[in-house]
Amino acid sequence: MIDLHTHSTRSDGTLSPGALMREAGRSGVTRIALTDHDTIDGLDEARCEAEKDGIAFVAGLEISAEYSPGTMHILGYGFDEENERLVDRVRYVQAARERRNPKIIEKLNRLGMEVTLDEIAAESGGGLVGRPHFATVLLKKGYVSKRQEAFDRYLAKGKTAYVDKVRLSPAKSIEVIRNAGGIAVLAHPLQLRAQDSEALDAVVRELADLGLQGMECYYRNHRKSDEDEFLVLARRYGLIATGGSDFHGSNRPEVHLGTGEGRLRVPPACWTALQNAIEGSRPN
Ligand code: AMP
Ligand code: ZN
Ligand code: FE
Ligand code: FE
Repeated sequence: MIDLHTHSTRSDGTLSPGALMREAGRSGVTRIALTDHDTIDGLDEARCEAEKDGIAFVAGLEISAEYSPGTMHILGYGFDEENERLVDRVRYVQAARERRNPKIIEKLNRLGMEVTLDEIAAESGGGLVGRPHFATVLLKKGYVSKRQEAFDRYLAKGKTAYVDKVRLSPAKSIEVIRNAGGIAVLAHPLQLRAQDSEALDAVVRELADLGLQGMECYYRNHRKSDEDEFLVLARRYGLIATGGSDFHGSNRPEVHLGTGEGRLRVPPACWTALQNAIEGSRPN
């Protein structure tokens, strides 16, 4: 099996990069990408472990782009991990996160919940701190009875403890990845929450004009009809099709490596197309 979208403790997953690769091995995943949000810190550990386990590995990351009312995430694959501009942009969004987290704490405190930044950071396994870690602590301390309730009541966009995140523009997200020799891919197109297929077509066309190279046609919760629609769109704009589970470990227990919520199967052609694209984008 193939899985091109996974998260470790370096962002908001619950398995370390190494443990994630071992879990992949146990799950029958033989080709994988690690795509943590806003960080490339886990790539070395993951690559090293994948090599030991005989799993083919591709470097990735997931960037949150400015977009509304839905969510736009751009995945990057096979970039030069030492590229200065990429490293610099990643540091920039990380620094913004560090300013954001105390603001979320402040809001929660004001709402009467006793939580500290240390408690939240302790949930992050040493990686980036984000809303999923806040949700875990609210659950553990009994302020909510389910993780989802933490989002629905407090942490989701527009709710009482929400603080906006610094994001890169779609153009910048794509540019940063491509400038580093990587492949830029639109993640989970359903999360754009486009009104209809024409609206989605327009967004994808715009992104393709900005240099987008791929689209995540296969995803943990896609139905056959979603896959079919996205494959048509991808072909229309000359994008490669990719796919993955968006595995987050026990932060999303219903999602499994390789198979997502059950029906996900990423075709081998996705892996080949991505490898060819990466190969083709290497500077000579
Ligand atoms: P952050 O990067 O700190 O803004 O956190 C984003 C992560 O929080 C996403 O990747 C999701 O895992 C989770 N998340 C955001 N909004 C929701 C929501 N409405 N319901 C459940 N999880 C959410
Ligand atoms: Zn995530
Ligand atoms: Fe995402
Ligand atoms: Fe993701």
